[in-house]
Amino acid sequence: MRDLPPNLQGQLSIRRAERARLIETGLIQQGISDPAVLAAINQMPREFFVETEHKEQAYENRALPIASGQTISQPYIVALMAEALQLQPHFRLLEIGTGSGYAAAVYALLVEEVFSVERHEDLANQAQSRLDALQIENVSIRCGDGSFGWPEAAPFDAISIAAATEDIPKQLLDQLAIGGRLVAPIGAQQSTQSLICLKRTESGFQQKDLGSVRFVPLISETDDHTESD
Ligand code: SAH
Repeated sequence: MRDLPPNLQGQLSIRRAERARLIETGLIQQGISDPAVLAAINQMPREFFVETEHKEQAYENRALPIASGQTISQPYIVALMAEALQLQPHFRLLEIGTGSGYAAAVYALLVEEVFSVERHEDLANQAQSRLDALQIENVSIRCGDGSFGWPEAAPFDAISIAAATEDIPKQLLDQLAIGGRLVAPIGAQQSTQSLICLKRTESGFQQKDLGSVRFVPLISETDDHTESD
């Protein structure tokens, strides 16, 4: 696992106790055990990724509102997804739904290279500035419809879809390497969604159910979903 640059380590002494409590009660006691995942979350100042009015709540184990009517994921869910992907330091990872950039930043400490797609330009730009401020240099962010993935950078060892969909777009399945894993919340926005993990094998996909979750919807340019904003 990588560390944040030494000149930013001082940042981590701020709110260290709150982060430690989140790791213990929000992650370890809920079943997260991958030491690299726990260490990566313990290195990430989540208060950087939330709006000023939510900074106080940055270490509560819950999703919080961000700009454009979207949400920063709950730390437990970020950890659950990262653990399920069985990340290794040489991996290339594709994330759909950059949002605040928090999960991308956590992934950046765990893998070689992160490619993240966000459909809202303001969120993509803000996430990029946060990663720049944290001197995280192995994340590329692109504004666009993530349903198409990032074909030029494929195949990926891991794909993390951070928005709910009833069907995983075929292009994303195609961009997963053989042996790679994909995690995604499956289901309609209004209903309970299931977080699933797919492993691509030589002959197809093996599926595992990781439990119920609630994510904002994946909005694809090719379907007729509309968003309220
Ligand atoms: N991982 C983020 C949370 C993502 S919330 C974090 O840690 O903060 C889901 C995000 O997916 C939202 O920002 C939403 O705008 C984005 N999104 C929804 N549909 C998308 C699509 N088709 N392509 C790219 N991004 C999409």
